[in-house]
Amino acid sequence: MDILHLSAECYPAAKVGGLADVVGSLPKYLNRLDHNASVVMPAYQTSWLQQQDYETVFAGTAPIGMQQFEFTIKKCSNAELGFSLYIVEIPGQFDRPGIYADPETGEGYWHELDRFLSFQMAVLEWVDAMDDRPDILHCHDHHTGLVPFMAAHCYRYKELQKIPTVFTIHNAEYHGEHDFEKGHLLPPFDMEKVGLLDWDGKLNMLAAGIKCAWQITTVSPSYMQELSEQGFGLEWLFQNERQKSTGILNGIDSEVWNPKTDEYLDHHFSVESRKEGKSKNKQQLCRQFNLDPHVPLFGFIGRLVHQKGADLLSGLIRELASSNNKANIILLGTGETKLENEIGQLHEKFSSFFSATLAYDEKLAHRIYAGTDFLLMPSRAEPCGLNQMYAMRYGSVPVVHNVGGLKDTVTDIKEENGYGFTMDELSVFTLLDTVERALKLHNKPEKMDNIVKKIMGLNFSWNASAKQYISMYTKVLKKTL
Ligand code: ADP
Repeated sequence: MDILHLSAECYPAAKVGGLADVVGSLPKYLNRLDHNASVVMPAYQTSWLQQQDYETVFAGTAPIGMQQFEFTIKKCSNAELGFSLYIVEIPGQFDRPGIYADPETGEGYWHELDRFLSFQMAVLEWVDAMDDRPDILHCHDHHTGLVPFMAAHCYRYKELQKIPTVFTIHNAEYHGEHDFEKGHLLPPFDMEKVGLLDWDGKLNMLAAGIKCAWQITTVSPSYMQELSEQGFGLEWLFQNERQKSTGILNGIDSEVWNPKTDEYLDHHFSVESRKEGKSKNKQQLCRQFNLDPHVPLFGFIGRLVHQKGADLLSGLIRELASSNNKANIILLGTGETKLENEIGQLHEKFSSFFSATLAYDEKLAHRIYAGTDFLLMPSRAEPCGLNQMYAMRYGSVPVVHNVGGLKDTVTDIKEENGYGFTMDELSVFTLLDTVERALKLHNKPEKMDNIVKKIMGLNFSWNASAKQYISMYTKVLKKTL
């Protein structure tokens, strides 16, 4: 089967979050199952993309509203990715270092629709011109949500109507919403279908993808269920499209995320050498952030936004400061200015037990998974969550809200065969309570070590999930017959 993945992010070329990790690893595992999966993404000016060699495979022009734009599609010659990576160059749209926002100002690029519409059209132009077209167009998140509509209803792409489109939702909170009048930028289509682009009077790329894709997937089964009840205004749509929806849990790239070989770690370790390995990584981390390595260490890595419960962490830190508990916390993240400021102030005030790095730092992220005893994920919603799986692979016990993919991957220690800490209710107080439960485990070194051994042995690799994608693709392809 030939599967072309369309995405705004792909690790290691351009990463903001989990979307990049998934798109940068699932195709590799699909290829190992004897399929031909490749990825096409915008040509940002990230340092990784600028360091690669390319071969031009296609060049063209296409109309966006009354204007024509030029684009070039290039194949990356890096053979280590495990899949073919194509980039789309569109002058004036992606030739900047930021993915969604200007890294200097943090402001989102004003012309988001032009950027991602021209990207999606360029890919369809290219596919249209191919002798051997892919069997499946697999679109990821709202940045590629217009492809299912355009492939099905734009006259320009009528040759593509029979190629099934799969639309995977990595985060339903972000819709790619624009003024409805902007719909005129799309190539001409059957006006009877215009309603497919609309949600609440807006041009909504996520909703259009959900309505028009042949198949919808979310990145965990629980998230799929939750979206019908709490779907960021799209509940009814999720209920309505249930027949063609399925949740497939993300896997992790167990080669990139391997504490035995991780290029970012100075001290490698395996299940067998976990005690020494974790301890060395913890000492290094504590030295770096001026913390006492004998105190239990909690980590948090992620976007500082309401969805991730980053605001609850501030409450937790204040509570810990006035309690008798001994716990250190290391935080790594960037996000909303208000939260960054608040976290920055707490970092100054409580530096004896709390250290925050307000940056995006891949190496430090790996070191935090390796050096912490526990990883905090008080997410209000979590489509899948990869951090808890990375944490477990690196022997850091997850402390999570029982929601979405966290529910599908973490079993509370109170349950039979449990290995983590889960909260059914989420508040500063349940978080503090759960941290206290974790501290009790840490006080019992033998029991703690058994849990670390157990989580490091769990298998979250893509092998099983990639097979589920294959059977979903196979089912979708049957619809073409
Ligand atoms: P998201 O909702 O942000 O996509 P996921 O849990 O699916 O959340 O994936 C988050 C990914 O981004 C993980 O690989 C995590 O290690 C990484 N990450 C998040 N924030 C940072 C940061 N500030 N520095 C380095 N890596 C980060």
